Amino acid sequence: MTSSPTIGVLALQGDVREHLAALAAADAAATAVRRPEELAGLDGLVIPGGESTTISKLAALFGLTEPLRAAIRDGLPVYGTCAGLIMLADKILDPRSGQETFGGIDMIVRRNAFGRQNESFEAFVEVEGVPGGPVEGVFIRAPWVESVGANTEVLAEYDGHIVAVRQGSVLATSFHPELTGDHRVHELFVSAVRAGS
Ligand code: GLN
Repeated sequence: MTSSPTIGVLALQGDVREHLAALAAADAAATAVRRPEELAGLDGLVIPGGESTTISKLAALFGLTEPLRAAIRDGLPVYGTCAGLIMLADKILDPRSGQETFGGIDMIVRRNAFGRQNESFEAFVEVEGVPGGPVEGVFIRAPWVESVGANTEVLAEYDGHIVAVRQGSVLATSFHPELTGDHRVHELFVSAVRAGS
């Protein structure tokens, strides 16, 4: 692929603008996605952080849950941050009643594992595949990955807990690289999208 890949940002709730800016900086054509029809023609999709219970509810309301599950199953590259990571888990340990995920990564995730809002923090994290040293991770009521299946790669750990994973073309981080102005994780995703296209 020579032109910029088109990457959607699921714009139901969360830090959509920051992801659109980070993707543009990583040389993708970034576009907000709210409706099932808008999934067609995407080379990749980002699921932002926010609140996974709200994203789950709104996705159902907008008729996006099944189309998104199907797109991920069919190989659409997806990157989820924080609540986005939760949405990509095949299983969550402590779902709110009715909370559903899109799935895509064989992992078990614990929501709010690093603590509540006032316990949010920043930390440097070495992410496999990201050159140039550790990435500054912003963790906000962040989940961690409790365990992964055989086909899921662990890309980063912090304080003994898994905070970045990949299964095939689906990538997820517990933290928010879109909030720091360092676009290397988005570049990792965009280059994987390019390589797979
Ligand atoms: N704790 C939130 C949830 O369960 C995620 C927080 C975030 O995305 N910053 O969805």
